[in-house]
Amino acid sequence: MEDLSKWDKIGIMGGTFNPIHTGHLLLAQWAMEEAGLDGILFMPTGNSYMKDRGEMLPGSERLAMTTLAVADRDCFACSDLEVRRGGNTYTYETLETLHRMYPRSCLYFILGADCLFSIENWYCPEKIFQNCVLLAACRGGVPMETLEAKRRELEKRHGARILLMTFPNLEISSTDIRLRCREGRSIQYLVPDSVRNYISQNHYYENP
Ligand code: ATP
Ligand code: MG
Repeated sequence: MEDLSKWDKIGIMGGTFNPIHTGHLLLAQWAMEEAGLDGILFMPTGNSYMKDRGEMLPGSERLAMTTLAVADRDCFACSDLEVRRGGNTYTYETLETLHRMYPRSCLYFILGADCLFSIENWYCPEKIFQNCVLLAACRGGVPMETLEAKRRELEKRHGARILLMTFPNLEISSTDIRLRCREGRSIQYLVPDSVRNYISQNHYYENP
């Protein structure tokens, strides 16, 4: 992994990235500007029992695509931490590890604002709140006042640090991209060209 210790504020963008797409990259870009981050660390998950194993590419292949997607951007990096660890992905564990690796940096964990309503049920939420600022992207749906109220509640109850940022509704998903590949339709502009070429060379997602 690259040396991120010179980044004071590190954004962490987790996901299955099966495959990584323009929605992920734009969200990262947006988060960087909104919170004045020095860079974003993309963190593909290890293989999870929760997602359909049939279509789920192995971590090494999702990691390869994510690495290609961020290659041309100095302030975007990709981590193999969760893929290497394997098994289920626990956010708290990743944050603790990163905190140990970069003790002088502040970690900003990027997530959809809807996650604020379930994060207390994640594994060891207190350790998540302790080790990062949550950067919650709001997309249409939940009114801002409701999110603000939830933020105040989590701050009060857990000392959580939460930033809310707005993000435009982009109807791009990995699910849709896999469907397009299966149907032989184009995924140009939905993923970076390097990722598109890699997918087509390896015949990913062509058969269910
Ligand atoms: P899948 O369709 O397989 O569930 P996905 O497109 O949702 O994939 P993930 O890898 O599951 O991608 O997403 C990682 C993170 O990126 C999640 O926090 C998710 O909410 C966010 N995300 C995904 N797509 C978008 C999008 N179009 N706009 C904003 N955030 C997105
Ligand atoms: Mg998803």
